[in-house]
Amino acid sequence: MLRIGSHISSAGGYLAMAQRAAALNATTFAFFTRNPRGGSAKAIDEADIAAFHAFCAEHDIDKIVAHAPYTLNPCAEKPNVREFAHTVFADDLQRMEHTPGQYYNFHPGSHVGQGTETGIAKTAEVLNEVLFDGMRTTVLLETMAGKGSEIGATFEELREILDRVTLEKHMGVCLDTCHVYDGGYDIVNDLDGVLTKFDSVIGLSRLKAVHLNNSMYGLSSHKDRHAKIVEGTMPLDAIVRIIRHPALRGLPFILETPNDDAGYAAEIALLRDLFEKE
Ligand code: FE
Ligand code: FE
Ligand code: ZN
Repeated sequence: MLRIGSHISSAGGYLAMAQRAAALNATTFAFFTRNPRGGSAKAIDEADIAAFHAFCAEHDIDKIVAHAPYTLNPCAEKPNVREFAHTVFADDLQRMEHTPGQYYNFHPGSHVGQGTETGIAKTAEVLNEVLFDGMRTTVLLETMAGKGSEIGATFEELREILDRVTLEKHMGVCLDTCHVYDGGYDIVNDLDGVLTKFDSVIGLSRLKAVHLNNSMYGLSSHKDRHAKIVEGTMPLDAIVRIIRHPALRGLPFILETPNDDAGYAAEIALLRDLFEKE
């Protein structure tokens, strides 16, 4: 069975999100934990959480991939930006404990002139400050396109971050197909080779989720411009090979394609159909 869903609006709370996901025929979803500009998140409503859990159980919705705000930069040079990253990260991980067993995905950050090594060290430092013993969320590093001074565009950089995190057992990786392709990993012509590389550098057991996007500019472009599933530089059969790859079986596939809800529902239906076809 293909576990697939899309990024959805967090408006209305947890039950509303799950209902929106079910309306798209999704069995997972992603959402921003708060406004991308930061600000405080809505207070947790226990009744909403209970209704959410009941609804998800009934509709087989699981492996939800919450997304940290884009503005969260744990390796920023400015102390106030790093302080913001720390505060939001810690608060989000507390909130995530209300929905145990799910994923919290974030961008490893942009070093903005400080250098990759400093960026990696600073991001690992924030992780060591906010992860805690007994936490039930797995924190995911997202593979990045290497736009600007982003860290995390190579598997080796992600490995370096993981190596510095004391509670590494609570960490994983989310592979964004647009980002890795833009970053120079040829998942169109050599998916097996890329996954073998991932396995040798990071370990496939760390791979917990996939952001399934096509790319507007393509291999090694470092642009990070997502395209609809049937519109980007990756042919549809390459996308189908990804969702069907044995090493990726059972992972949640999250669409972050430029779509409204009707567009997401259509992509989910198309991919479910292609997944089933022999
Ligand atoms: Fe992301
Ligand atoms: Fe992504
Ligand atoms: Zn992106």
